[in-house]
Amino acid sequence: MKTRIKNILREKPVGQPVALAGWVRTRRDTGSFSFIEINDGSCLANLQILADEKLSNYASDIKQLSTGSSVMVAGVLQKSPAKGQDVELQASQLTVIGTADPETYPLQKKRHSFEFLRELAHLRPRTNALGAVSRVRSRLSYAVHQFFQERDFVQVHTPIITTSDCEGAGEMFIVSTGQEKNKAEHFFGRSAGLTVSGQLQAEVYALALGDVYTFGPTFRAENSNTSRHLSEFWMLEPEMAFCDLQGNMAIATEMLKYLLNDAMSNCPEDMQLFDKFIEKGLLDKLRGVVEKEFAHITYSEAVDRLEKAKKDFVYPVKWGLDLQSEHERYLSEEVFQCPLIVTDYPASIKPFYMRVNDDKKTVAAMDILVPGIGEIVGGSQREERYDVLEARMIEAGIELADYAWYMDLRRYGSVPHSGFGLGFERLVQFVTGMANIREVIAFPRAPGSAPC
Ligand code: ATP
Ligand code: MN
Repeated sequence: MKTRIKNILREKPVGQPVALAGWVRTRRDTGSFSFIEINDGSCLANLQILADEKLSNYASDIKQLSTGSSVMVAGVLQKSPAKGQDVELQASQLTVIGTADPETYPLQKKRHSFEFLRELAHLRPRTNALGAVSRVRSRLSYAVHQFFQERDFVQVHTPIITTSDCEGAGEMFIVSTGQEKNKAEHFFGRSAGLTVSGQLQAEVYALALGDVYTFGPTFRAENSNTSRHLSEFWMLEPEMAFCDLQGNMAIATEMLKYLLNDAMSNCPEDMQLFDKFIEKGLLDKLRGVVEKEFAHITYSEAVDRLEKAKKDFVYPVKWGLDLQSEHERYLSEEVFQCPLIVTDYPASIKPFYMRVNDDKKTVAAMDILVPGIGEIVGGSQREERYDVLEARMIEAGIELADYAWYMDLRRYGSVPHSGFGLGFERLVQFVTGMANIREVIAFPRAPGSAPC
């Protein structure tokens, strides 16, 4: 039975036999010994192996070991005299499983740029930084479920193939067999696409189960080649019945703080790596976010601030225009220097399902903006009044017949309800400090790019 390095370093069973398997990071020979650093992906740290020339395959195998090869090792754990590590493994057996030709193996010891590593989507998880991102992402995903399950939210698996373009949130990818010659021949009897949001379906379940969430892949065929957009990303969408905008903001805030805390307490070594090499001061930033209250302003106040700002923005600022990333970042980074919730956007720039405020001009929307990224959460209280919703849909040019099921939710036992969407990769970016969203998903899909 193999043990993972994470457990070995936690339990440090000195004097005990241990077996492990992993990939060689480095090999160094001194006299009658070789020191081999092994990483098995369970944690950031390597375990140092001592291989003695008395091992039967020392000359034939061990002295040939190169970076990237895979090995299995058995031996006894001992205290290490070396600095920077408590324990090391004295190998009694070291078996080479797979070699890696040093002439061609692309991950040599030096640090590689993330752009270079993007071309190696199949090997980059073997690097310290990308391995750490993978572990933190996995932990955050677990924490998302934990947060909502602890609060009795029911997870709903909303469909990936959808026939409703929720909000026209972005361009949809069309799902097709490639054989249809007309509408009637569509596989589903009508045109279908990949989901841009599970919200409308989540609303169905919120109005039956109370508190629900959906967490899964989301697709947008928008041509935005930015450091914060992907064509395929993961979105978390909680939806709560009997919940207004205040309640929505409260749960989103509580959740973000919970998730940051969780990553810091459960992935300390990985987080230190990010703090040291990816974003200096990251841990202080995150601790600050957890401790401080989020700032809160209305869209109208935000526009006011932006208009008065002594700053040249690329995009115009005017009441009625959407906030661009540069505006969002200016507000959260320079004005408030902390996460910021902006509420009550103009109805004209927000989708039909957001609840119209008493002023008839704005809707009960809320976006959470964070330093370095801009929008991380977008949410709203939903329009629960049949007539108001219908008027908004007509105004938006939506085919009412296609949304009869959605309208039914307002005809039968309608309730105030609210929800939001959290871009999971943007959360991972915020937590790890990674500058580009393509580094926080295993196999990024973006315009012109879908490796592996
Ligand atoms: P943006 O203005 O940044 O494009 P949006 O207004 O289109 O965002 P929503 O439709 O509100 O975003 O989606 C909810 C959340 O999903 C966003 O707050 C963001 O975190 C995330 N998100 C949206 N589009 C993308 C994308 N293309 N790639 C990654 N995450 C995204
Ligand atoms: Mn968008």
